[in-house]
Amino acid sequence: MKRLICFFVTAIILSANISNAQKPGYVLVIHGGAGNITPERITPEKKVLFEQKLEEALAAGEKVLSAGGCALDAVVAAVQVMEECPLFNSGKGAVFNAEGKNELDASIMDGKTMKAGAVAGVMTIKSPVEAARRVIDSSAHVMLAGRGAEEFARVQGLEIVDPSYFYTEESWQEYLKVKARIETEGRKGTVGAVALDMKGNLAAATSTGGMIYKKYGRIGDSPIIGAGTYANNESCAVSCTGHGEFFIRNSVAFDVSARMLYLGETVEKASGYIINEKLKNQGAAGGLIALDKDGNIAMPFNTNGMFRGYVKKGEKIQVYVFR
Ligand code: ASP
Repeated sequence: MKRLICFFVTAIILSANISNAQKPGYVLVIHGGAGNITPERITPEKKVLFEQKLEEALAAGEKVLSAGGCALDAVVAAVQVMEECPLFNSGKGAVFNAEGKNELDASIMDGKTMKAGAVAGVMTIKSPVEAARRVIDSSAHVMLAGRGAEEFARVQGLEIVDPSYFYTEESWQEYLKVKARIETEGRKGTVGAVALDMKGNLAAATSTGGMIYKKYGRIGDSPIIGAGTYANNESCAVSCTGHGEFFIRNSVAFDVSARMLYLGETVEKASGYIINEKLKNQGAAGGLIALDKDGNIAMPFNTNGMFRGYVKKGEKIQVYVFR
């Protein structure tokens, strides 16, 4: 009997060690938008600036994960670095809508609890991703829009800024060009992050100014759970970027998870099919980042480029801009 108990205890310890050995520790993947990102459009100097910011965002998220923090905090930390950087289409430097205003969207999802939060069409919240996080923690809802979201953020003690905070000369000039019907598509991107923490929990977050010259009140996929953002510990965490209307119609972020769960596809196969076949065939430009519960990464895009990068425990930060 004693031997039998000994055998079972050893077996349990061994199997625990094996599954620990298979765990990747932590992984963080980010994107800074997909689009017409080519060496002709992005000068070598500008490319360096993008790479530095992507590295900074990855380092901020990694700091949380390496200290044993949760995936949800890590994606917020990574996204906030990009929200504060005028190079990306989120937070400061976001694109202007047709009325010459910045209207921001963001969302976040916790793969462990399946809780989600989003804000849409906000114009005064400095960090929309943080407001989305508060929607999870401090409200009974999933999405708050416009004035209600801004009032909620104010009561939560988040930083409220004058709409002029989001203004940058570069975004304004792009707006004027688009207004004058000059083609300038694709230099600025939505931002997003997906993370797997050391406890095996997944999370995803996305933050954007939306499509340039969008109609006042237009909401894209980024704040919509299942379209631009999704996380489920059973499958994967996903953050999308691209032509939002298509991403909403195709429930892209959820579809990656569904294909994995229902069809048994890998994260790479599921997301590659959706971006490079399904959406491409519909003429929908964009990309996504996805991370499964074992730490496998996919970063497909059907555009010329996508600002992207990742870091894994014990490995060097990797960032990419072009194909
Ligand atoms: N998906 C965003 C939207 O449609 C835009 C982008 O990712 O560039 O609002």
